[in-house]
Amino acid sequence: MSRIPIKIPSMLRGSVVCHRSRCGKANCRCATGALHERTVLSYSEDAKTHLVRLPTEHIDAVIAATRCYREKKARLAAEASANLAVYVAQLSDRSSER
Ligand SMILES: [Zn+2]
Repeated sequence: MSRIPIKIPSMLRGSVVCHRSRCGKANCRCATGALHERTVLSYSEDAKTHLVRLPTEHIDAVIAATRCYREKKARLAAEASANLAVYVAQLSDRSSER
């Protein structure tokens, strides 16, 4: 069975973090200090934080995709706030005319 290559979206919610952990095996190198490092995508859903391990070749693209989402979200929030300020000002102008 051939595996279909995974397409990385250009925009993703979540953040890429480096996760260090012990695997729990008593005779593993991590038991004495050298923790396992893995790069994961951390995202929250249903009020829970989920971690999914990222393949090395995906890391850069996924970081870019999460950054893209943060930037778009910030821009959208700024625009909505500006709209809100204008709208609320117009409503209060109108109510003071009475
Ligand atoms: Zn280990």
